[in-house]
Amino acid sequence: MTDTRTAPRTAAVIGSGFGGLALAIRLQAAGIQTTVLEKRDKPGGRAYVYEDQGFTFDGGPTVITDPSALRALWENAGKDMDDYVELLPVDPMYRLCWQDGKVFDYTNDPDRLEEQIRRFDPADVDGYKRFLEYSYKVFEKGYLDLGHKPFLNFGSMVKVAPDLMKLQAQNSVYKQVSKFIRNEHLRQAFSFHPLLVGGNPFQTSSVYTLIHALEREWGVWFARGGTGALIRGMVKLFEDLGGRLRLNAEVAKIETANGRATGVRTHDGWHGEFDAVASNGDVLHTYRDLLGHTDQGQKKARSLTNKRWSMSLFVIYFGLNRVHENLEHHMILFGPRYKELIQDIFKGPDLPDDFSLYLHNPSLTDPSLAPEGCSTYYVLSPVPHLGKADLDWDTVGPKYTDRILDYLEEHYLPGLKNDLVTCRTLTPFGFRDELNSHLGSAFSVEPVLWQSAFFRPHNRDGKIPNIYLVGAGTHPGAGIPGVVGSARATAGLMLEDFGLQPQAH
Ligand SMILES: Cc1cc2nc3c(=O)[nH]c(=O)nc-3n(C[C@H](O)[C@H](O)[C@H](O)COP(=O)(O)OP(=O)(O)OC[C@H]3O[C@@H](n4cnc5c(N)ncnc54)[C@H](O)[C@@H]3O)c2cc1C
Repeated sequence: MTDTRTAPRTAAVIGSGFGGLALAIRLQAAGIQTTVLEKRDKPGGRAYVYEDQGFTFDGGPTVITDPSALRALWENAGKDMDDYVELLPVDPMYRLCWQDGKVFDYTNDPDRLEEQIRRFDPADVDGYKRFLEYSYKVFEKGYLDLGHKPFLNFGSMVKVAPDLMKLQAQNSVYKQVSKFIRNEHLRQAFSFHPLLVGGNPFQTSSVYTLIHALEREWGVWFARGGTGALIRGMVKLFEDLGGRLRLNAEVAKIETANGRATGVRTHDGWHGEFDAVASNGDVLHTYRDLLGHTDQGQKKARSLTNKRWSMSLFVIYFGLNRVHENLEHHMILFGPRYKELIQDIFKGPDLPDDFSLYLHNPSLTDPSLAPEGCSTYYVLSPVPHLGKADLDWDTVGPKYTDRILDYLEEHYLPGLKNDLVTCRTLTPFGFRDELNSHLGSAFSVEPVLWQSAFFRPHNRDGKIPNIYLVGAGTHPGAGIPGVVGSARATAGLMLEDFGLQPQAH
């Protein structure tokens, strides 16, 4: 390690997703000279931004929850988030629509929410209140207490096991919701959330019911200018603090000597020496490709290949030359099947004939994302990853696009194809090739209990002590609150290893 009396401590962060940027900001704010190396031409990772003919498309995350975790990044740095980015509330948080014409506005206004529940089944109002209480208990333990703490040894898992048992973490989200709520539509409304972080509601631990309390606690937000504006705000904060971001810099190798990381080398031959290296890239890519020259890299890659990986996504970004007034910002459009469809997505081996969709309509909240009189959308369909359904998306993609757009035109956006100005897609191939994601998985290692906390890849490698991981593949997992929490856990370890004081928030 560099002599700390004469030179600043240095760190490299590979990848500029939410997790990588949050970690880099924390390190830079603590006085560690940090360089972020990003493969692509823009930062953000899954939060990449596409632009065409005056339309702005956020590539991935659009539902911002727990703004306090983001605000903490600015607070630690002695800056004010409001000087960098403006967050706008979204209400209802989601509109849920079923094929039978039923609609549920999922809001965090308790009276309106109760009214919605009563319309479906008055008997479920009481059950919902008990579910909310339960969800808050899980939220306090699983998110506020453990969501940003690293689980490096088995003892740390044993310690929390009694709490997890008390919270019935062995049950699936759907099973636990069904204990409180009897109406099938409402069961779906309160159990679909694991899909937002790559989990199957019928298999993911009921710990993930905490997402409901998290949304009720802080609401759902959207950055003015789109999620890309939030990424730009984070990059500006990082650079204002003195951090360096290198774009078009795909790391080919993490260099090691005497059992420690010494630096990184990019595909175009750039080389940098660092006291510590953190990877925000896919965890299997990190071990197999960047550390494949080490025994540890090979061993870890083998064990990660045997993990269960979350599903992939098919996303269509499209712009229309008109505005549809009858839509909300975030819409979940359930198809004809729920459980069976989810099982098909997680098991394969084919692309199911039906789909359930998430429709993003951001120009409702921020009209600047589309030209005057136009509107910007993306529609997303969860699909099997390439290990479950080995499809040629170059052939399947255009037909699947047509089917989804036809469906939207018939049910939600009349005249869509006639009004279409621009259209592009992201397929499992894009996750695999652009983002280096194993099997084209959209959310990394699947969030099931036996792949969570200690059983998830650790925030610090167990053998090479100055290599760290951050992002969806490590604890606590995918989603913006998850990866920002992982950055807090990883930064805590790095600061400790550098002999620095922990951060306040
Ligand atoms: C379509 C979609 C919608 C989503 N919607 C939401 C939502 O509404 N709300 C929410 O909270 N979450 C959402 N998520 C989940 C959330 O976006 C992700 O879990 C999170 O953004 C992942 O962040 P990350 O830190 O793991 O990094 P990633 O976003 O995975 O970024 C990793 C970065 O590493 C780079 N990289 C990889 N290998 C290398 C290398 N060798 N050298 C240099 N760079 C490299 C990649 O290019 C990439 O930029 C969504 C995800 C998707 C895909």
